[in-house]
Amino acid sequence: METLLLKGKPVSDSIRLSLEPRVQALIETGIVPKLAAIIVGDDPASKVYVRNKARAFRKLNCESQTYQLNSKSSEKDVLTVIDRLNNDPSVHGILVQLPLPNHLDSKAILHRVSPNKDVDGFHPENLGLLLEGNPNFIPCTPHGVLEILRHYDIPVSGRHAVIVGRSNIVGKPMFALLAQKFEMGNATVTICHTRTKDLASFTKQGDIIIAAAGSANMITGDMIKEGADIIDVGINRVDDDSEKGYILVGDVNTKSVMGIANSVTPVPGGVGPMTITMLLVNTVTSAEKCVELVAGW
Ligand code: NDP
Repeated sequence: METLLLKGKPVSDSIRLSLEPRVQALIETGIVPKLAAIIVGDDPASKVYVRNKARAFRKLNCESQTYQLNSKSSEKDVLTVIDRLNNDPSVHGILVQLPLPNHLDSKAILHRVSPNKDVDGFHPENLGLLLEGNPNFIPCTPHGVLEILRHYDIPVSGRHAVIVGRSNIVGKPMFALLAQKFEMGNATVTICHTRTKDLASFTKQGDIIIAAAGSANMITGDMIKEGADIIDVGINRVDDDSEKGYILVGDVNTKSVMGIANSVTPVPGGVGPMTITMLLVNTVTSAEKCVELVAGW
């Protein structure tokens, strides 16, 4: 069987292209979609992620402002910045870059972001609406996975989707989407985690496998069934002799599933490019909601 590589870039490019006229229409009404990104501390990876997000926003004629707080900032300091941004009408999306330093209560901080500006979709109100099937903002990575499935015409309805990982930002919202009664859902979904006994016995049943465990190369060819469609969300650094000293690999051992799977997303270049794109989608949508609100007054 020839295994199709589900590259994220063409999907991401086509979604970004569809955003251009929406952004232009907003600018004509005097509104520039704006993201405020908060980073606490000096985690180099977080800085790179936020820089990449800012670049993508500028490229689409949107704004992005970064609020860099030092690693010793108190919870009150962070909440004060969030409150200010919640009340700033020029800001349409607020993102708190994770992970936060250990002394901070991530839950309390994420809960403080106004659900109307929660473009990451992590606020419990938005997660609840997603579960209910009436989403406000869909978390970016699972939303990106859905768009890849849609773009490549991978059937979902009636198939068995096996998700490996149950985090609040990937696994659980992925479950809520794939099990939902809508055109890109209607799957029968199994969700696995570290307490799952005999993981392979579940992944072998998956028509679709979503690997989101954060464990390098853990899904191998002998753990999948012939013809499975595999989405590899994982991004893991593995040390090597290259100049950088590491390479990025997914949770799926891509080489070993080639010829067995129907399709697989590459790492890098699969789900990765989709996450920022869906953040753009959520921020533009949030700005559009502001226009509707103003028009309704
Ligand atoms: P978390 O560490 O928050 O969650 C990992 C989940 O996987 C947990 O539920 C854990 O189970 C489960 N898990 C870990 N190891 C195993 C295992 N050996 N067998 C079964 N289950 C396992 O990670 P995230 O959800 O935040 O991220 C997952 C991966 O996706 C990471 O590699 C991350 O870098 C990547 N990622 C990529 C993004 C992108 O843009 N492409 C965006 C976000 C994340 P338990 O709950 O029992 O601990």
